[in-house]
Amino acid sequence: MPTTDSITRKIQGAATADVCSDELRWDPWAYDAPRRGSRLPVYGAGASQWDTIPRSAPVQREIPERYRAMAPEEVAARIGAARARLGFRLVILGHHYQRDEIIRWADFRGDSFKLSQQAAGRREADYIVFCGVHFMAESADILAADHQRVILPNMAAGCSMADMADEAQVLACWRQLDEILGRREDRAAAVPVTYMNSSAALKAFCGERGGVVCTSSNATRVLEWSFARGERVLFFPDEHLGRNTGDKLGVPDDAMVVWDPRRPLGGNSVEALRGARLILWRGWCSVHVFWRGWCSVHARFTTTQIAEARRRYPGINVIVHPECRREVVAAADLDGSTELILETIASAPPGSQWAVGTEINMVNRLAAAHPDKLIFCLDPVICPCSTMYRIHPAYLAWVLEALVDGEVVNEIVVTDSVKASARVALDRMLALPGRPAPAAARR
Ligand code: SF4
Repeated sequence: MPTTDSITRKIQGAATADVCSDELRWDPWAYDAPRRGSRLPVYGAGASQWDTIPRSAPVQREIPERYRAMAPEEVAARIGAARARLGFRLVILGHHYQRDEIIRWADFRGDSFKLSQQAAGRREADYIVFCGVHFMAESADILAADHQRVILPNMAAGCSMADMADEAQVLACWRQLDEILGRREDRAAAVPVTYMNSSAALKAFCGERGGVVCTSSNATRVLEWSFARGERVLFFPDEHLGRNTGDKLGVPDDAMVVWDPRRPLGGNSVEALRGARLILWRGWCSVHVFWRGWCSVHARFTTTQIAEARRRYPGINVIVHPECRREVVAAADLDGSTELILETIASAPPGSQWAVGTEINMVNRLAAAHPDKLIFCLDPVICPCSTMYRIHPAYLAWVLEALVDGEVVNEIVVTDSVKASARVALDRMLALPGRPAPAAARR
């Protein structure tokens, strides 16, 4: 049985120019040391490597030395044995962006919200091990039953996009808007909408203020719902998903303003804020936008890459995630959530060709599952989501063996009051009618 995944093999064998960072070849615990203060903490090599882990991020116990020294075969054998011992008491969730070495153990594979719902449906499981990032584990804890305990194998697996909006900053923004826009009896001056990629505290913030949560599948329906209830929407933390959705709804350019939390009034005039329909938080996934501080996965995709794919394969279909920048989404043929990208390509005819603008592990698995189609990642450089990449099999072995011994390590706990308010915002989203919209055709 293979113990090294395809991406890891490619990284090990690739030339320096073919990977975004040579540090991808390091083991993830090499990045735990900076967290103890020798230099600014970072997520580790990969698409978000230059982003800073917030000081408020939870810090885990050091992974025991024996796991760091284990051969991949032994790690895999230990995961398998612990999983078998725990049986129905355990459910392992694997996000689409995880490496193959982790995905092979997942009981469910999906995007963040789908996974949380699937775990919540497995009431017999006492332990939910979420192989994703911090906000996803929080969402699982919000939806889980009281007896279920949620574990994130590596606490340093955050999300650079979610980290770009913290509760204090959003609260400060809300107070300033309140002062400028005033209150209305009939309609809210602004409705807060948070993307699923945000902390539980921000989901609760929305729940307490008439707001709602959205996913990349339902952002259009959520914004329609919000515009029916308020004069304008405050959308956080992903500027690009907000703008791309505003474009789909025909919100004019001059009615979309960006709120930079580091500047007074977010860098806007009072008139611009009064005239705005959509106030977009200055935040992003550097995976989907090639710019420091954005979710580095979707930040990496450019119109030049799309032009190159079209030049090499005339007639190719280009599909991207809506966390990509506006011009990238506009230059693609289709855009949609990870689930919709998967469904669209899976149901495409044999022989069809696809250039995909999303995380490389997911694209590679898609290509392996459909050898009758040409499927490749738009970004020619191997650069996984660095925060997902922190979930190395050694961490999974560590937390599972601890569970077998009756110890819960790296547990994610959302307080009851935050849970209750966050549920309100999630329930508003779930109450919206209709199925997720199909991937939006651009051409
Ligand atoms: S791909 Fe970007 S938005 Fe998604 S988890 Fe990674 S850092 Fe966060």
